[in-house]
Amino acid sequence: MQRTHPMDLSGKVAVVTGGNSGIGFGITQGLASAGCNVAIWARDPEKNSAAVKQLEGLAGTVSAFACDVTQREQVQAAAIATVQQFGAIDGLFANAGIGGGGRNSFLSRQRSDWEQMIEVNLYGAFYACQAALEHMKTQFEQGRSMGRVVLVSSIADRFGTASNEHYALTKSALSSFARSIAVEFARYGVTANSLLPGYTATAMTKDLLENDKFTQAVLPRTPMRRFGKSQDFAGIAIYLMSDLSSYHTGDSLTIDGGYSVT
Ligand code: NDP
Repeated sequence: MQRTHPMDLSGKVAVVTGGNSGIGFGITQGLASAGCNVAIWARDPEKNSAAVKQLEGLAGTVSAFACDVTQREQVQAAAIATVQQFGAIDGLFANAGIGGGGRNSFLSRQRSDWEQMIEVNLYGAFYACQAALEHMKTQFEQGRSMGRVVLVSSIADRFGTASNEHYALTKSALSSFARSIAVEFARYGVTANSLLPGYTATAMTKDLLENDKFTQAVLPRTPMRRFGKSQDFAGIAIYLMSDLSSYHTGDSLTIDGGYSVT
C-alpha cells in the first residue's frame, strides 16, 4: 500500500470497542476519515447501525459487529469476522466501558458493583486485547510489521474520585496493563499506550455534566473552559494508528483541555 502522507491510514484496520457512541465514536470517525478501515465492536444493534450509517462515505470503511466484550466467545467471533471482512487487525482501541455514577458512598458499595465494573472495564479489555494481539503477533510473523493497542483509561487514573473508587481502580489498572503489553509485545512491532480522557460530553456523563454544582467546580479549573467532545479524540487516534508513533509505547496520554495541570 503506497501512502501519500504519514497520517494516511489507508490499508490499515482498527477495532474500536464501544465505537458506536461517545469517545469511541470520535475515535472511529477520526480513523475512518484518515482512510483506516474500522470495526466497531459493541452490543446494541441499533446504535451500531446508526453509527455505521453516519460514517458512510469517509475514506475508510466502517463496519459494526455485535459483541458484548464481557463474553469471551463473542469477542473471539468478532475478531474472526473482522479479519474475514478487512483481512487483518492492526490496531485495537479498547474503549468500551461503564461509569460508576459517583453518587453513593464507598461505604454503601456492594460486591456486585465492583464485579460489574471489573467485568466490563477490565475483563472486556482483557478479552479484546487477547483476541487482537493474537492476530497482531501472527501478522507480524507473516511480515505485516505494525500493531497498536490503546486502552481507554481516564484521568481517574491520576485523580481521586470520591464515591467512584471501583471505576477509578479499573482505569488505573488499564494504564498498568498497557505498560506490560508494551514490554511483552514490542518484539512483534506492537506499541501499547493508555489514553486518559478528561470530562467529555457523552451518554455516560450526561447527568454529571448537567449538574450545576459539578460544572461550576470543573469548568473554571479547565484551561480550555469547556468539556471534551467526542471529536477531540480523533487526532490522537490517528497519530497512534500511524507509522509516526511506532517508537511511542508504554505511555499514558492525557486529553483533558488542561484540567490535570491546574
Ligand atoms: P458512552 O456511554 O458514550 O460509550 C460507551 C460505549 O461502550 C458504548 O459504545 C457502548 O455500546 C459500549 N459498551 C458498554 N458496555 C459494553 C459491553 N459490555 N460490550 C461492548 N460494548 C460495550 O461513554 P463514553 O464514550 O463516555 O466512554 C467511553 C470510554 O471512555 C469508557 O471506557 C469511559 O470509561 C472512558 N472515559 C470517559 C470519560 C467521559 O468523561 N465521558 C472520561 C474518561 C474516560 P453498547 O451499549 O452498544 O454496547
